[in-house]
Amino acid sequence: MKYQTKIDEETLQDLINIETGLFFPLNGFMGKEEVLSVIESGILPDGKVFPIPITLDVEEDLFKRAPDGAKILLMYQGQAVAEVIIKSRFLMTDTFIEKIFKTVEMAHPGVRKEKERRPWRIGGKTKLLDVALLAEALKPETTKDIFRKKGWSTIVGFQTRNPVHRAHEYIQRLGLEVCDGLFINPVTGWKKRGDFTQEAVVTAYETMFRKFYPENRVYFAGLKTQMRYAGPREAVFHAIIRRNLGCTHFIIGRDHAGVGGYYGAYEAHDYAKKIGKEHNLGIELLLTREPYYCTKCKQIVTDRTCAHYETNRVEISGTIIRKYISDKAIPDETMLRKEIFDAILSCDHVFME
Ligand SMILES: [Zn+2]
Repeated sequence: MKYQTKIDEETLQDLINIETGLFFPLNGFMGKEEVLSVIESGILPDGKVFPIPITLDVEEDLFKRAPDGAKILLMYQGQAVAEVIIKSRFLMTDTFIEKIFKTVEMAHPGVRKEKERRPWRIGGKTKLLDVALLAEALKPETTKDIFRKKGWSTIVGFQTRNPVHRAHEYIQRLGLEVCDGLFINPVTGWKKRGDFTQEAVVTAYETMFRKFYPENRVYFAGLKTQMRYAGPREAVFHAIIRRNLGCTHFIIGRDHAGVGGYYGAYEAHDYAKKIGKEHNLGIELLLTREPYYCTKCKQIVTDRTCAHYETNRVEISGTIIRKYISDKAIPDETMLRKEIFDAILSCDHVFME
């Protein structure tokens, strides 16, 4: 029997990221045993940390008909791009979704995205058939080679989905103070409507590098994977990916990969600390507090460096910057540099549709 299933762009990206080693130690889509272990403890059955399930959704008929050990061709836009050997199967239930995201509300963009997939999931080792798909992919051997050639022995990874604002800049300069190099690695896969486009993120950073950061201290490349908005779990997932890419340090900020009010401001810190204490993450975490502008200190600070959090804080966040720009209002320079604002406005598409 020949089995095949159509996959979407996000699943294709997962497949590529498994193949390149970005999602090490995965060598395929997670089966029942892996997913149960991951959602319970953030740990794979072999003891390695991996807090986000990476799964393959298929049609109900295929799920019921194809026996274990059967080979399924994964079709993307009419092409067979990979094959998977069925090892196990399970249903993605609301119980699982709640464990991952801590909610099943459709208002949560990650939950919605997950619930819109087919609930029938098949796990097993994957093999990429179309190696041309790897040509553009971010590969650990490439980034490790680049870091080596730059002579960096310590590299701090920075996750983002926004153009650089002054709070980011504060944290990035902190990273540059303690490490040889800074790797800015924005997520370029699916993001929710209203988030900044990749074009806006890239254009803003190009300006930052050209005008402000020292040459040869920063490396920039996109990471093609979807945002899951899974907060604490995704923060650790992001750290694992950057470790795989050769980073020695990774920054986890306030409400990392969070959305709305679903996660506590420093819940990702607590989760990362807990899991990092019990297991070897293989990367050092820089857990940074929220930088804000203090009207008394007259500079960017955090509640660890300034006494006026309650009285003089001007918040800086991607959400606030998005609001300013969509209203065509100019944010204060203490929030966003004028050069970056102009760079964002010069883009054809600023927001995801
Ligand atoms: Zn202050």
